[in-house]
Amino acid sequence: MGSQLAGQLAKIDLHRQEDLVLHLPLRYEDETRLTPIAVARPGFSAQVEGEVVSCEVTLRPRRQLLARVSDASGTLVARWLNFYPSQQKQLAVGRRVRLFGEVRGGFFGDEMVHPRLHAVEPGEGLPEALTPVYPTTAGVGQATLRKLIDRALQSVAVDDPRSDPVPPAVCARLGLPGFADAVCALHHPAPDADPASLENREHPAWRRIKFEELLVQQLSLRRAYNARRAKGAASLPARSTLTRALLEQLPFGLTGAQQRAVGEIAADLAAAHPMQRLLQGDVGSGKTIVAALAMLQAAENGFQAALMAPTEILAEQHYRKLAAWLAPVGVDIAWLSGGRKKREREAELGRLQRGEVLLAVGTHALIEDPVVLPRLALAVVDEQHRFGVRQRLALREKGQEGRRPHMLMMSATPIPRTLAMTHYADLDVSVLDELPPGRTPIRTRLVSDARREEVIGRVRDACLAGRQAYWVCPLIEESEALQLQTAVDTFETLSGALPELRVGLIHGRLKPDEKAAAMAAFVAGELQVLVATTVIEVGVDVPNASLMVIEHAERFGLAQLHQLRGRVGRGTAESVCILIYAQPLSENGRARLKVIYENTDGFVIAREDLHIRGPGEFVGARQSGVPLLRYASLENDVDLIEPARALAETLLATDPVAVERLMARWMGGREGLLRA
Ligand code: ADP
Ligand code: MG
Repeated sequence: MGSQLAGQLAKIDLHRQEDLVLHLPLRYEDETRLTPIAVARPGFSAQVEGEVVSCEVTLRPRRQLLARVSDASGTLVARWLNFYPSQQKQLAVGRRVRLFGEVRGGFFGDEMVHPRLHAVEPGEGLPEALTPVYPTTAGVGQATLRKLIDRALQSVAVDDPRSDPVPPAVCARLGLPGFADAVCALHHPAPDADPASLENREHPAWRRIKFEELLVQQLSLRRAYNARRAKGAASLPARSTLTRALLEQLPFGLTGAQQRAVGEIAADLAAAHPMQRLLQGDVGSGKTIVAALAMLQAAENGFQAALMAPTEILAEQHYRKLAAWLAPVGVDIAWLSGGRKKREREAELGRLQRGEVLLAVGTHALIEDPVVLPRLALAVVDEQHRFGVRQRLALREKGQEGRRPHMLMMSATPIPRTLAMTHYADLDVSVLDELPPGRTPIRTRLVSDARREEVIGRVRDACLAGRQAYWVCPLIEESEALQLQTAVDTFETLSGALPELRVGLIHGRLKPDEKAAAMAAFVAGELQVLVATTVIEVGVDVPNASLMVIEHAERFGLAQLHQLRGRVGRGTAESVCILIYAQPLSENGRARLKVIYENTDGFVIAREDLHIRGPGEFVGARQSGVPLLRYASLENDVDLIEPARALAETLLATDPVAVERLMARWMGGREGLLRA
């Protein structure tokens, strides 16, 4: 193979024979039959065969290659706007050709634009099977791919079926063919194969491949899990000296769910291998106190713990909350954020480095170079989905004494069970499935943007009654500048329309201290209305705010809407979330608004979100470090996940050879990222 071709193939991740074998068709075309030209109907794909009666390059209306092809029933025009000399040669008058493409009515009669062209040799029969169409990249034609794949398949076809890593008994139970049979059936479907089951990927051969893909995913996640458990970490048994002191002076008791999570984390921290736990809890379920107790358990043992949050606002809020909780307990906290003055930061760094302070809260500033936490034993990442794999790794590397810190990741984006099983199988999960008592449910209103004035009136009423309101400006994906402009415009409009209220503005372009000042003024009640971009999406906690207005709500994702809505309903006053939408609504936009209107439970919303968006986008594969599933789908193949998980455990325990074969076949050398 030439190096240029190899380079192009590498672009679509085709490096080895195994990759070609697993490069499965997107769809199939039926070239097993010929349609008489007179019978081919506009709007449908067909294959016709005939003799070239004319072929010319015309220049008007633009340069194109026009050929007329006739069979006994009629004549058809074939037209190419881009063409090669080789095509012209194949279309010499008098030659027999097959054309495959969609027929449409044209100026010169029925025509095909850019049909697939195949010169027919004398005596050449029709293919007996459906023709595969492969995903490809510029410069690699279907014919080339087919040839390469067929060659690769030979190496598999001779593979001894007895060496199939999936045991025959499992195949039989699930009704799946062996691997070699499956890939051959998909690349070269039998003439009598059911086209519908190939198309919708329910054919047993497809199910075999999808099962194997899920199996490999389970294997790699379990291996990452086991590898982690083989590493050492500081054992931090619960001494209850500091944690009990904190619990005694808290103004509230923990919910049952919080107690359960605290217990699970405490047990993990006591072990001598690193914890890797996800604490999942809906917006407002009280994850922060759980994190604080875990951090104190590290401190009780004389070790350091760090909490990293994705935004300045959130980090500062955590810092204030933890400082208030911990001051009576006599535990000091360092605060590191990009917004602090250099001198202050350096002082904090010195204290951390010397081990004078055990707890740290901060933004990405925590993982920047000069930060050293010599006794780091616990790293907590809040809103973990907002960080990339690399950032989480960097925090893990901050420890100094060759030990890995325990990791606690927190997320308010609940993960449906199937996703948790497939994408987070290397994590242990604690769930806060209970909200603290005394919350009043949030009412959600959908309002067309024609009624914006009314909404402004509601903001006035709420604020004059002593409450506070957020006004969230639309997401403008194409342009950050435009988004900023909209926020500024909205701020001016609202300031003008509500002269009796103090209106503030917060957005991502403000300097950290400006952001902090605006936020502090809102927390203190000096501002009554806060106009904001989505910077307030995560974590912000102002219990007196009871009205949330979201403009162009149809543009937001479900998780985002749920997060934003969760900014209210934190106090005792009845809270309202007004979603302003603009017509016309896209089908998805309408579906999202319906879900958020009808549901408040984050788990239900996440399930619906998965439904609307599909799992790939949902977890953000790049972020999670888990490769996207290429073939299996978490919606359609749920029934295969549990058997895949079970077989993964059996194979890991009993058949290392099969495990290696599977990993090599599917992953090549790409397992590295998973270790994150
Ligand atoms: P989230 O899970 O969204 O991060 P927080 O940790 O910010 O939630 O908690 C939300 C609010 O609930 C905070 O003001 C917190 O102090 C309060 N809170 C947490 N746990 C309880 C509890 N068990 N009882 C009453 N209030 C609680
Ligand atoms: Mg939080």
